[in-house]
Amino acid sequence: MSNRLVITIDGPSAAGKGSLARNLALFLDFSILDSGALYRAFAYFHNQGLNNKEIESSIEKLMFIPEKDDTKIFYEDTDITSSIRNEEIAKAASKLSALSDTRKSLIDIQRNFMPSNNLVADGRDMGTVVFPEAELKIFLVASAEVRAKRRYLELQNRGQEVNMRDLIADIEQRDMKDKTRTLSPLIPAEDSIVIDSSNMSLDEVLSFTKKLAKKELNK
Ligand code: C5P
Repeated sequence: MSNRLVITIDGPSAAGKGSLARNLALFLDFSILDSGALYRAFAYFHNQGLNNKEIESSIEKLMFIPEKDDTKIFYEDTDITSSIRNEEIAKAASKLSALSDTRKSLIDIQRNFMPSNNLVADGRDMGTVVFPEAELKIFLVASAEVRAKRRYLELQNRGQEVNMRDLIADIEQRDMKDKTRTLSPLIPAEDSIVIDSSNMSLDEVLSFTKKLAKKELNK
């Protein structure tokens, strides 16, 4: 393993991990690993009938481009962002992510991602399983209602119509699955800093996290 600095951001769906990770990575000039996108891409390629080996080599070709309002995901030259950021793929990803073969396929891909770059990695088990030695670990939470509202606006901005009640139910069901699964359950690492963003704006969470990150960089 290289000597890079890793910041992990874990937490339930739609807690704001993606926005925080993207803005923090842009601010610090770190690379970004959106592990949820890898699980979503896994489901996307799985739905196309690929086997696990084929899926692994397809996933190794993915590129993440952080932009101010979104992280774009490219497979070869194709932008597959909207093909994987929808509720259907989220459900399939959640189901597949509980299988040990899926997690095995993705663990080394995650650990070896951009090995010589400093990294902001977001997901469910970044601080507990994938990067247990990370210098700074954030666990970001928010109430289910606040998260459903954020996801609703995010999907609406992407032109996807969703029903708010279905969304809350989906989010709660997915959280329950992620928390109670045997492999890599969604739990805060012992040495993580828990931030409840229910009543905080992204800017507030970001400036708090920037301070923590700067402390790490100055060590
Ligand atoms: O974060 P996102 O909603 O994109 O993740 C989609 C699904 O992938 C999650 O519901 C979760 O089941 C799975 N996942 C995971 N481990 C991660 C990241 C995501 O199991 N590190």
